[in-house]
Amino acid sequence: MEKELNSAIITDFKIPTRMCVGCRGRFPQKDLYRFQEINKKLVNYTKSGRSFYICNLCMKQDKKKIVKVLNGKFKIKDIEELAKY
Ligand SMILES: [Zn+2]
Repeated sequence: MEKELNSAIITDFKIPTRMCVGCRGRFPQKDLYRFQEINKKLVNYTKSGRSFYICNLCMKQDKKKIVKVLNGKFKIKDIEELAKY
């Protein structure tokens, strides 16, 4: 019986990755934008509190998806900060 090689996904454990809330893909932290929510408003990460990441690609191509996630999951209504990117 042949053994199936089930290691198609190559993961480099030396690079810390974080998940993008828009596409749920994993990316190196340096390629992600980090935000948090304060009083239903999207703000840049202030180094304290709960934060989340958004990838480069979503920022450039799929802001609608991000807005949907932010509205639903994080109850963020003010996403003014996104427009700067
Ligand atoms: Zn993304």
